Amino acid sequence: MISRFAPSTTGEAHPGTLLAALLVWLDARSRGGRAILRLEDLDVTRTRAAWAQQMIDACAWLGLAWDQIVVQSDRRAAHDAALDALAAHGRLYPCTCSRAARAGGRRAPDGSWAYDNACRGRVLPAGGWRASPDAIRVRLDDDRVALIDAGGLDLSQTPARDMGDPVVRRRDGVVAYQLAVVVDDAAAGITDVVRGRDIAPSTATQVMLQRLLGLATPRYRHHFLLLEPGAGKLAKLHGSIPLSQLRAHHDGPALCGVLAWGAGLLDDPVPSRPAELVAAFDWRRVPTDDRVARWTDHGLVIDRS
Ligand SMILES: [Zn+2]
Repeated sequence: MISRFAPSTTGEAHPGTLLAALLVWLDARSRGGRAILRLEDLDVTRTRAAWAQQMIDACAWLGLAWDQIVVQSDRRAAHDAALDALAAHGRLYPCTCSRAARAGGRRAPDGSWAYDNACRGRVLPAGGWRASPDAIRVRLDDDRVALIDAGGLDLSQTPARDMGDPVVRRRDGVVAYQLAVVVDDAAAGITDVVRGRDIAPSTATQVMLQRLLGLATPRYRHHFLLLEPGAGKLAKLHGSIPLSQLRAHHDGPALCGVLAWGAGLLDDPVPSRPAELVAAFDWRRVPTDDRVARWTDHGLVIDRS
């Protein structure tokens, strides 16, 4: 069993990323598996090397030791090879549709606007996908993917219709998330993907890409998220409680205790090391509903109700 924690390094680590890291690590260790850290740094417009290093440091501070660290930008040749394979099967096409043009159309399961595959009839230029100045999409089969994840979440979709054909290489030349994640999971021999529920709507698209590339489909599990407090619709927690603030108030075991308590793994938020939580780890203790994380005079607090 090999699992991975794969954060994008587009900002400071925060309680939500550290919770995700802890859950991946505990799931792997409690099953005698390996756990790797993959730093997703392909989006050159948004990532910084300092944030990648900070993610490594933050995990070590929390008490998480990884069996391997993979830097996604080192994997360029494998991503290009996957694009070549899809092109060889006649699956790639250039798309010039703007995001604005999709607005008001059909809602995708992730809340964005679905793409209507309008450019499927277009062909790549003579020089192939490398020579195209446009975004490159992959034509998926119009099949339905039937999929229930390990937590019972129904991820079934017809991704070609529900989401639309995915972009696999962006207009700015960056290999898109959906392709990179599938290629890199397979290359690392990942058997189990544990990640936040916000990514769940992408799973069926990723399964279709695995089928096109002849790659195995891992087991999936999607866990609850930490949300921002506030009125109205709650948003996924992002950078509002950065690592620097956490470290100024908590030491690693103290924060680990707060996160583990928030995840239902401790009866009280007492200082703990991840290794001490392995024996009792059980997904049946972990909530399925998202929880609010707030900053107080006592530091980070996760609402358990
Ligand atoms: Zn298009």
